[in-house]
Amino acid sequence: MSEHTEPTTQAPTVEADLPTIVELCKKRGIIFPSSEIYGGFRSQWDYGPLGTELKENVKRHWWRTMVQLREDVVGLDAAILMHPRVWEASGHLENFADPLVECVECHKRWRADHLMEDAGQTTLEGITCPGCSGELTDPKNFNLMFKTFSGPVEDEGNAVWMRPETAQAMFVDFLTIQRTNRLKVPFGIAQLGKSFRNEITPGNFVFRTREFEQMEMEFFVEPGSDEDWHQFWIDERLRWYTELGIRRENLRIREHDEDELSHYAKRTVDVEYYFPDSSLGWAELEGIANRTDFDLKAHEAVSGQDLRYYDQVADERYHPYVIEPAAGATRATLAFLYDAYRVEEAPDADGTLQSRTVLKLDPRLSPYKVAVLPLSKKDTLTPLAKEVYDLCKVRWMTEYDETQSIGRRYRRQDEIGTPFCVTVDFDSLEDRAVTIRDRDSMRQDRVAIDRLVGYLAERLPVC
Ligand code: ATP
Repeated sequence: MSEHTEPTTQAPTVEADLPTIVELCKKRGIIFPSSEIYGGFRSQWDYGPLGTELKENVKRHWWRTMVQLREDVVGLDAAILMHPRVWEASGHLENFADPLVECVECHKRWRADHLMEDAGQTTLEGITCPGCSGELTDPKNFNLMFKTFSGPVEDEGNAVWMRPETAQAMFVDFLTIQRTNRLKVPFGIAQLGKSFRNEITPGNFVFRTREFEQMEMEFFVEPGSDEDWHQFWIDERLRWYTELGIRRENLRIREHDEDELSHYAKRTVDVEYYFPDSSLGWAELEGIANRTDFDLKAHEAVSGQDLRYYDQVADERYHPYVIEPAAGATRATLAFLYDAYRVEEAPDADGTLQSRTVLKLDPRLSPYKVAVLPLSKKDTLTPLAKEVYDLCKVRWMTEYDETQSIGRRYRRQDEIGTPFCVTVDFDSLEDRAVTIRDRDSMRQDRVAIDRLVGYLAERLPVC
């Protein structure tokens, strides 16, 4: 553990391992290999109906916390293909590279830094190919940006890069957004969306992929107030994860050592999650950096545009400092899945203990909030069950499911994290009431259909 890592008071308590999560995701169609009928495609993954909802909920909740509930942050949705000089100014063309070595025997490429880390060394001396023990070449830098061409002619003049992060648009559009929205420093610009990195070693399911989604915010502050704002955002971001259900002992804050800091950063802190038994262990969910005025000055130098902020009260122009909480939406989705996974002993209808798998997701993240389950498929129940479904679906993502036994349907809903199941039975035809089952306590309440929406609204947080 680095001396800058906070001491943990309690051991991590993650109950799932990676194969279990991958299997659950595949079984329920949450996340599965991309282009599977062609054998999958290079660690790319598709999000099925439930995975799409889950990931959208993660992003929605980030947006709500970072933009909707804050008076000092606004949103942006910028183009993925930006002017190529953006990447010259940002340093990505020059610095965004991993050192690679190649085996002279089997020609496999390896990350030099990973090989040294695994061998517990700071040099490559004596290290051979982990695949075939062949000799390795000297390291060469490999740029992680995906290159393509804008327009029909594939020459260098038309070369463009798929954005490797969402952040740069916030610097490039900084003054336009500040002026058109009459914003005063301190303020932030937030963006979420796809980013692309030609990672040498993608893997660990959706932890590291070449196409992924980020949630980033650039918060512009007066120089001198940057250190306090940095701490403010570290605390806020940690709270975001714990308020959405990640157990505190499974998160930690790690300070970057001096030699690890990016070229633009004055201080960086990572929020790490404990991914058990994969090759990851404690690994980054989000980086929170004090980027100083590096980016605005760099874009000013390359674009030739004055990017200073005009402070009307002090009648002066300056380059604000920037605090950046940069999170991965896809990586966070994986952490929420891990943390919600539980296997419990629970009594079945006759009171015998059975094991049940339950995703104890915060209801704001659950793909479905409600499942409407007619006790039987008989036509007599369908009209009333559909009436109940119609009442719920206009307010919450609701699933209607009438196949299989009720016990199996409850188990399925537990496994996908649905907080409430509403059962319509034959008594419902007489008393116009339904049974509502709570996912976590498994308590069942009989509630009049007239009161159903109110009952659920009291228990389902706004999202
Ligand atoms: P890492 O050290 O894991 O490569 P990074 O420090 O390069 O990550 P940042 O540039 O700080 O990552 O990006 C911010 C966030 O974006 C990361 O904390 C992570 O959650 C997410 N992220 C970055 N690269 C990937 C990837 N290849 N796949 C999935 N998520 C990613």
